[in-house]
Amino acid sequence: MEHIHFLKRTWAVIDIDALKSNYAAIKAHTRSKKIMAVVKADGYGHGDGMTALALERCGVDFFAVSNLDEALMLRKFSVSSDILILGFTPVECASILYRNRITQTVFSLDYARLLNDECLKKGITLDVHIKLDTGMGRIGIVDDSPNSVEDIVEIISLKGLNTEGIFSHLSSADCDDEASLAYTKAQIKRYTDMLKRLEEKSIHFSAVHLQNSAGLAFFNDLSFDYARAGIVLYGLAPSHMSLPFKLTPVMSLKSVVSLVKTVPANTSISYGRTFCSDREMRIATIPIGYADGYPRLLSNKADVLIRGKRAKIIGNICMDQLMVDVSDIEGVQPLDEVTLVGQDGDSRITFDELAEMTGTINYELVCLIGKRVPRVYRQDGETVRVLDYLDK
Ligand SMILES: *Cc1c(COP(=O)(O)O)cnc(C)c1O
Repeated sequence: MEHIHFLKRTWAVIDIDALKSNYAAIKAHTRSKKIMAVVKADGYGHGDGMTALALERCGVDFFAVSNLDEALMLRKFSVSSDILILGFTPVECASILYRNRITQTVFSLDYARLLNDECLKKGITLDVHIKLDTGMGRIGIVDDSPNSVEDIVEIISLKGLNTEGIFSHLSSADCDDEASLAYTKAQIKRYTDMLKRLEEKSIHFSAVHLQNSAGLAFFNDLSFDYARAGIVLYGLAPSHMSLPFKLTPVMSLKSVVSLVKTVPANTSISYGRTFCSDREMRIATIPIGYADGYPRLLSNKADVLIRGKRAKIIGNICMDQLMVDVSDIEGVQPLDEVTLVGQDGDSRITFDELAEMTGTINYELVCLIGKRVPRVYRQDGETVRVLDYLDK
């Protein structure tokens, strides 16, 4: 195996084996025919290209991203499968979409007409999926608006567009209260009703898809052409509800001890003096901060793992460094590995734990891991690649 170097300051370990086992678990669970892997936002911070290539080797043949740049990044990594852009692309980019075999979402008749005009001008035909708004309230043709069926019929008739798919998005499939359950069921009905209304006009699609991670996990009587799996691929749960399949977290966040010192009582630590020692303490400094995407809101709250034990963060987290109390951990020294998220011995810290403390969701925390944090890909016990966004 070739030797792979990276700056051993702060790094994210991406476990390809975990990604593959998550895919297998999801695939075994869902009744939908295939998985469309959602790798937007740089694969939820895991690295979109490497994630997509690993999943392609597992049999995934459709990827979803948020925008054109993300789609082109996948092509740069030689991902050859279909790619759906879930959101807006300026119509003047039609020929870039075409040249790179990228499928565009059309979310209104106006947008479809403009995109069609551009395609006719360029003499190309673009693959598109129609987006329905069945209750998400974001983008899409509102299914129960008076003209929805006519709008869809017109889009399908446009010669510059090849309408292969139709999809919608569930807003509340991750919630298990009565009202949310009823809402999701109503969204499912609105979606399938629209499919029926179109079938009555002999309109069929080769790519019908509705479920996100929570939808495929908790509404498993559904069977469409694709289920769009995002967060579950990365081994994280879409909600507090326990999942009907087993996942393994894909990302761990690592750093090292840069300095260990003993301080007397009454020593203040970090900006703003939010922590002051009440006794002699051993304190370790760790070279990770909020500029790496480790939230400042975790100051004086979260733990890290050193030598398999929890050490509490003391004082305010800085841009590039933070301090932890290692008074009760034997033998801590510079260059000891630090686990901010992940497993060390019998101890584990999860993104869910940190999300709870910061009042957000695991999705946001993985996306926020900064681009100066190299992604270190591990497979079969070896480092197979390092992705350094700041390549020198
Ligand atoms: C992000 C997104 C998904 C994936 O959502 P998860 O909850 O991560 O599975 C699916 N569909 C659309 C339209 C999205 O924007």
